[in-house]
Amino acid sequence: WKNAPANLRLVAMAGRAHGDRLFTIYEDERVTYDAWFRAVARLAAEFRARGVDKGDRVALAMRNLPEWPVAFFAAVTIGAICVPLNAWWTGQELAFGLANSGAKLLVCDDERWDRMAPHRAEFPELETVFVSRCDSDPDGAERLEEIIGKPNDYAALPEGELPDCDIAPDDDATIFYTSGTTGEPKGALGTHRNLCTNILSSGYSAACAALRRGEQPPEPVQKVGLTVIPLFHVTACSAGLMGYVVAGHTMVFMHKWDPVKAFELIEREKVNMTGGVPTIAWQLIEHPERENYDLSSLEAIAYGGAPSAPELVRKINEVFGALPGNGWGMTETMATVTSHSSEDYLNRPDSCGPPVATADVKIMSEDGKTELPVGEVGELWARGPMVVKGYWNRPEATAETFVDGWVRTGDLARLDEEGFCYIADRAKDMIIRGGENIYSSEVENVLYDHPAVTDAALIGIPHKTLGEEPAAVVHLAPGMSASEEELRAWVAERLAKFKVPVRVAFVKDTLPRNANGKILKKDLAAFFA
Ligand code: ATP
Ligand code: MG
Repeated sequence: WKNAPANLRLVAMAGRAHGDRLFTIYEDERVTYDAWFRAVARLAAEFRARGVDKGDRVALAMRNLPEWPVAFFAAVTIGAICVPLNAWWTGQELAFGLANSGAKLLVCDDERWDRMAPHRAEFPELETVFVSRCDSDPDGAERLEEIIGKPNDYAALPEGELPDCDIAPDDDATIFYTSGTTGEPKGALGTHRNLCTNILSSGYSAACAALRRGEQPPEPVQKVGLTVIPLFHVTACSAGLMGYVVAGHTMVFMHKWDPVKAFELIEREKVNMTGGVPTIAWQLIEHPERENYDLSSLEAIAYGGAPSAPELVRKINEVFGALPGNGWGMTETMATVTSHSSEDYLNRPDSCGPPVATADVKIMSEDGKTELPVGEVGELWARGPMVVKGYWNRPEATAETFVDGWVRTGDLARLDEEGFCYIADRAKDMIIRGGENIYSSEVENVLYDHPAVTDAALIGIPHKTLGEEPAAVVHLAPGMSASEEELRAWVAERLAKFKVPVRVAFVKDTLPRNANGKILKKDLAAFFA
């Protein structure tokens, strides 16, 4: 890997070569690869003119809009470090991201600029703000549209080249923040090589999976994807956008996730692939209006980022005739480390797949000293060209997490004889009941198997002598019912007695999740207070 010319300028040039092929579709805005590249070159030149140098941070705070991949590539192709901030963050959290990264320039949309208004004194290093889609006074910012125009006008921009910049594969390219599921978000400092790795991982791993089954690797074909998850998350940016640009796929953006709108877009734009997180797949399956749309173009629904029910795998296949896919990864690995799809996934629905061709994984004892044998649950460690250098400005956390080229993932998992990986729990979420370990996913998967249950989470609640006991929070399918006793009995028939939730709470709507589809387990204790 050391010799691979991993450089996001090359990715951008590969994108440009797709010419008139549509790159992004957002409402009535359609941007071709050629038009996108014109805007990238223009904005990159403007960044340069504003004094953005190699290593300077350019923050991005916007929803999935056509401007996102323009600003991202304008920053990284001149050697700046792009810092995509979580668009769902409050003003205060956005201010944290700007201050933490020391951003010099910000590109944002009007909604986030308004949100930051009370905090604008908190990021003095910020010199320039380009705000997009702003009808009112931009208040200290400049309008992005005055530099590159609106997305439908990008095609009329003059043809331009990227400003000169020497980039080495191990130069810094991005800071992505972790989801903050277990604490304060940490900025993972990624390189050009880290981001380019997924391009190889995805296509190459699909080919390897086909070869393992004795089939021909699939021919690369240009596809249309409905990009539901936010680009500020590595899954959508690194594992999605990078591969799209190289392959010339089309990205369809949604203003806001809405299953009916998704059906309309799948039908209208003949979308071939979508997904992101398991909840999205469930909502597509369960929505009563699904029947009213032609969704026959859908070929694949893939997700990751959070545990998913084995049941989902079969459902996707039955309901859409599409292939399910799962991938395990984390911000620290720029997304994909394991990848699972097609027949392999149908046959092993509780696995998140084998490591991609570029990754190594191993299972280690809790103290990090001994490698555990096949079948035993321990901490998952991962290594490969996708693993980031460390956290931005967090030397202690970096030293704890990144050890001898490996990343300690904090997830508990096991491997089978063939190298398929099975996530048991996050180490922080594992429940220890009087010395017995209970892994959430095992109990959650049994609950999911109950016909009435569509969502389930297991947490530990305090117990005087046992330390903690398992308790479940579940969501039932509309029109279905199940009592607490029935669900407890269901688990008791299938698992050891100590794993049976002592209490079951029911939620009417969905379980609390963050923007990346992860259940906020720390918020569930309130159900048993
Ligand atoms: P923080 O590190 O700030 O607490 P986070 O770990 O949720 O937040 P991310 O980097 O977005 O931040 O998520 C990585 C985590 O998501 C993994 O450690 C794992 O627990 C979970 N995860 C990712 N993919 C899968 C998957 N396919 N199956 C189960 N869990 C997954
Ligand atoms: Mg994490």
